[in-house]
Amino acid sequence: MTQRTHQPTVAVVGGGITGLVAAHRLLSDPQPPRVVVYESASELGGKIRSTHSGGCDIELGPDGFVGRDSPLLPLCHDLGLGDDVVAARAGAVEVWSRGHLRRLPAGLIMGMPVRLGPVLRSRLLSPRELLRAGFDFVLPPTRCDTDLSIAALIGGRMGRGVVDRLVDPLLGGVYAGSVDFLGADAALPGLRERLSGRRSLIRALRQMGARPATAQLVTVRGGLGRLVDALAADVRRRGGQVHTGTAVATLDAVPDGWQITTRSGQIECVDAVVLAAPAGAAAELLRSSQRGIATDLGLIPYAAVTVASFVYPRNAFAQPPAGNGILVPRIEGTLLRACTWVTSKWPHQARDDVVIARCSTGSYGDNRHAELSDEALGRALHRELSAAAGLRGEPLHTRVTRWHDALPQYRVGHRVNVAAWRARLPATLTLAGAPYDGVGLTACATQGRDAAEQILAHLSEKTTSMPIAGRT
Ligand SMILES: Cc1cc2nc3c(=O)[nH]c(=O)nc-3n(C[C@H](O)[C@H](O)[C@H](O)COP(=O)(O)OP(=O)(O)OC[C@H]3O[C@@H](n4cnc5c(N)ncnc54)[C@H](O)[C@@H]3O)c2cc1C
Repeated sequence: MTQRTHQPTVAVVGGGITGLVAAHRLLSDPQPPRVVVYESASELGGKIRSTHSGGCDIELGPDGFVGRDSPLLPLCHDLGLGDDVVAARAGAVEVWSRGHLRRLPAGLIMGMPVRLGPVLRSRLLSPRELLRAGFDFVLPPTRCDTDLSIAALIGGRMGRGVVDRLVDPLLGGVYAGSVDFLGADAALPGLRERLSGRRSLIRALRQMGARPATAQLVTVRGGLGRLVDALAADVRRRGGQVHTGTAVATLDAVPDGWQITTRSGQIECVDAVVLAAPAGAAAELLRSSQRGIATDLGLIPYAAVTVASFVYPRNAFAQPPAGNGILVPRIEGTLLRACTWVTSKWPHQARDDVVIARCSTGSYGDNRHAELSDEALGRALHRELSAAAGLRGEPLHTRVTRWHDALPQYRVGHRVNVAAWRARLPATLTLAGAPYDGVGLTACATQGRDAAEQILAHLSEKTTSMPIAGRT
């Protein structure tokens, strides 16, 4: 192994899950660089925020992550949280559609049916919509040489009913997006290629193999905030510097690296940067060195989302909630888009005395929630939930949390754009996080890890190609 004569410095901009995982990976290297994390907010974690309210653990942002292939799982074990990782109960998900709660049918891949029998039995589609879905087997092959919206890709084969009643609640919910706007390549990677020239979407899906309608989710007992705290403590223990309340104001390319200037005027020159801030902030920081990429990043729209958590007395329910939660198709026009029955979904949150409901509202193009006060919004969501779930009592506690720039929207062509930006950037700067290759915590953590590995590879290449005396 070539020993470094100079310890390089890597700046991580953004202390959300992406930035923290990147910092942790950088410092886990046998020859770790010096790592400085800059976080503009007073707390680390970004969208992850766990709290204790009304005697209950409540997640104000994400409440779990996809366990399959997640770098967060081994990380939880390494950080001593392995025994506190809890899997979601395999409960049913229901859809509130046309005035009825109906069970989400089995055999869906991101809302797309692999078999029509369970969809028929679920009665989520009208007879006409079901008939239209069956046209998938007889329509001529779809030409889809370039990216197109999810609605165009799936609707073209199976009709609008499948898009609105099945795909939108599942996929639109993940992105808080509109299926008419979200690009298929980013949200459903590989599907377009699989369908290209084929006659049937259903047959293409069958070849991908049936998967559960919702992926296996896991969380951390006591809240995901514990993972953030443990990660940050480990980064510090390994010598990383973590500055909260410190926004990076400018990022200027200098010979051999980057000059960071914080909003309070501190200046530091670093060898490399992991840029793990939301798209708008990343755009500002790249304005001086990468104007074209900055302009593109500045155009990535975000959906605003509000989460309202209700704690209900058990006897407020005529019958206790049957499943893990409720999804509401956008076409229903309600404020309520989704409700998680926290006390049913997570075994460690089960309680005899109360039911915790976590409701979310708002999606790209639907900002009605932003116009209502916390109190009015809480009341409206409670009313809608009561109608759907047969509630007959008031909540004991309500907590409303607003996320203005909650989730970036991947429009048609997003994947190609991301690849082009990455190709144009020097090896000393990597883009990682929700605006690029997936919004879920697992996707963000994967990007943080990969960004760190790319920087480490670059630093090691630089070391081996440097003269023996090294840099002065
Ligand atoms: C309400 C809600 C529910 C969700 N539910 C789930 C879920 O259940 N499961 C799931 O997997 N995902 C979920 N997500 C998505 C997931 O939480 C996010 O996509 C993910 O946390 C984003 O992580 P990130 O590190 O990329 O960005 P962020 O968490 O946004 O972190 C970026 C950080 O950069 C900081 N920053 C910005 N500008 C600067 C600057 N100039 N200098 C320094 N720092 C800066 C910000 O303050 C922020 O802390 C949810 C998101 C929301 C909003």
